Amino acid sequence: MPKKISILGSTGSIGTQSLDVARKHGYFVEALTASSNVELLEKQIREFHPKKAALLDPERAAELKIRTADLDVSVLSGTEGICECAGNTDAETVINSIVGLAGLMPTLAVLNAGKDLALANKESLVAGGPLVKNAAKRTGARILPVDSEHSAIFQCLQGQPPNRALKKIILTASGGPFFGKKRAELEKVTLAQALAHPNWSMGAKITVDSATMFNKGLELIEAVRLFDVSPEQVDIVVHRESIVHSLIEYDDNSVIAQLGVPDMRVPIQYALTYPDRYESPVKELDLASAARLTFFEPDYETFECIGICRRAVACGGLMPAAVNSANEQANLLFRQGKIRFLQIPELINAAAACAENKTDFTPEDILALDALMREEVNRRA
Ligand code: NAD
Ligand code: MG
Repeated sequence: MPKKISILGSTGSIGTQSLDVARKHGYFVEALTASSNVELLEKQIREFHPKKAALLDPERAAELKIRTADLDVSVLSGTEGICECAGNTDAETVINSIVGLAGLMPTLAVLNAGKDLALANKESLVAGGPLVKNAAKRTGARILPVDSEHSAIFQCLQGQPPNRALKKIILTASGGPFFGKKRAELEKVTLAQALAHPNWSMGAKITVDSATMFNKGLELIEAVRLFDVSPEQVDIVVHRESIVHSLIEYDDNSVIAQLGVPDMRVPIQYALTYPDRYESPVKELDLASAARLTFFEPDYETFECIGICRRAVACGGLMPAAVNSANEQANLLFRQGKIRFLQIPELINAAAACAENKTDFTPEDILALDALMREEVNRRA
């Protein structure tokens, strides 16, 4: 079972939980990367002895180099350094747990190198779409979902014949901290309120995306990409308890679900051990003490971001990239206290209206559009 892996974004919420899994199963860690957290990355390097490590920030990378001079690790920097850690090691599977569109070039580097990609960084698949899928097809690399909903669907699909009669995917959503609230009540919500997620402890960007439900919109697009279904085949249901991680429905209306306590180490581990299963550090599900599982229709009027993503994926081409980038900037401005919560969807709509769509595009087109969307959001904020 010992296996060689690398983790991109190892200092974050998914990154550190991935290292928990690696520790438990004695995986060899070939490379680790982060944005700027020298202290934690140094600690991880001392424990896991990767051959390569990278920090986005060149000054921090220089500091890391000095601090790890006694170790046999090559310290790199910038996006090129991260891509080198992504594609050029002996790892069989690379976990991409970078946050945001910054994960796109590393995702492509992993797949172009023919390595399996355990994907938490949904933004790269949403924005990159066909580029990412084609890279995997060309090299035969697999994309294994880490997002809990998509891991659930992937688990439900196991054992299906190739001519599977999949009718529908049903994504569950916790509803976030503002479930049940109406627009007027969201007028003055604060960052602290948005960051108080009921069930999951995650990085700040995805936590705010859960509050706006843009996260569920991204996941809708992610499901379309991963499972080759149309947007109309993806339903969303609010499930406050986060125990049913998602469901699929077949032509005969039989519905299959995957359940468990909310802990990301299960989907992370499954992406690494697939198709096998092993013991995990996660607690057993006690259904009787959970007592009640509830389901609600999402409030699409209040949480406009789901509709924004649904329309973007229906348009296709660069539109998912446009709304993703506009959201990244609006989400950031909200976290910096520069805009109000309800300005997030407003700014995404206004910026995306300035995007020129294209069906054939390159990674450079996505990066240019990213700069434009960020500028458009800033200009209107
Ligand atoms: P986080 O903010 O906790 O960690 C992000 C990691 O990426 C850190 O290691 C950081 O150093 C690195 N990073 C940040 N900006 C970077 C950049 N510009 N270039 C290179 N590296 C950079 O985020 P997270 O909550 O772990 O989420 C990571 C990804 O996983 C996101 O795409 C998120 O949507 C997805 N995801 C997270 C969870 C969760 O429970 N946290 C669940 C499902 C999916
Ligand atoms: Mg999810």
